[in-house]
Amino acid sequence: MRTPALILLTLCILLWMGCTNEAKKTTTTGGKIYIVTTTGMLADAVQHAAGEYATVEALMGPGVDPHLYKATGSDLSKLNKADLIFYNGLHLEGKMTEVMAKLGQKKPVIALGDKLPPERLINHGAAHDPHIWFDVSLWAEILPLITDELVAYDDAHGQAYAENSIKYQKELLELDTWVKEQLNNIPPNQRILVTAHDAFEYFGKAYGMEVRGLQGISTVSEYGLKDVTDVVDMLVSRKINAVFVESSVSDKALKAVVQGAADQGHTVKIGGTLFSDAMGAADKPEGTYVGMVKYNVTTIVEALK
Ligand SMILES: [Zn+2]
Repeated sequence: MRTPALILLTLCILLWMGCTNEAKKTTTTGGKIYIVTTTGMLADAVQHAAGEYATVEALMGPGVDPHLYKATGSDLSKLNKADLIFYNGLHLEGKMTEVMAKLGQKKPVIALGDKLPPERLINHGAAHDPHIWFDVSLWAEILPLITDELVAYDDAHGQAYAENSIKYQKELLELDTWVKEQLNNIPPNQRILVTAHDAFEYFGKAYGMEVRGLQGISTVSEYGLKDVTDVVDMLVSRKINAVFVESSVSDKALKAVVQGAADQGHTVKIGGTLFSDAMGAADKPEGTYVGMVKYNVTTIVEALK
């Protein structure tokens, strides 16, 4: 009497395990893993690593400021449906910390920036600068981290994930070299990047440019009159002719800088719009990470060379 009962029980457990395992991997159509990221830059990296085995969706589209972004109702339903969630961390998505912590109790929710070696990060007192995608070689380091998470979730395709990541990492390291070559076209005394907020410190550190933002590392902080006059004085005294708008931040402060310089008889132009914390439209080259970096670098070189 006991043996059939035991077999039945074992069968039930196996069936149940099979079902839950199956449910885990097919919450989207076509049996692909459904991955949600916060920024477009993250979606780009994760999609490269996951290849054909995942559908990757970013919550924050073109022109969206991640520092101020709050999850909408439709974001929450995507996050709830997702099998895996990747976000930047390092307090970039300052208004989503609680949501991510809650979701992390139910599924893998990974803050990639928090997993990078601390010695590669820029410190601002107690906080790290979250804008890690501006140093292309540092950004390349998130690929093995993404691969680890994909393999942990779906080891059946582990080899594909590893190969995809290595391939894209190589592309990024070539891009890193290209950036260095391009920026050499700017005369040394013009290698200063003035933008709306301090998004470009990793860029400055990696590629030898001085950077100056009117707001701090988060757009949550406001700029003041003194920030404007300090930047104007610097532009006038060092004869710098261009400043840059950011696609995800108001251009008000930079317009005040241009006017302030004009009042002192020095012409400063808006050198162009840079994609700082959000990528461009999906149908444009700037809608990819590589395209975004190329667009930014070309814009900077054209304005300052
Ligand atoms: Zn920012």
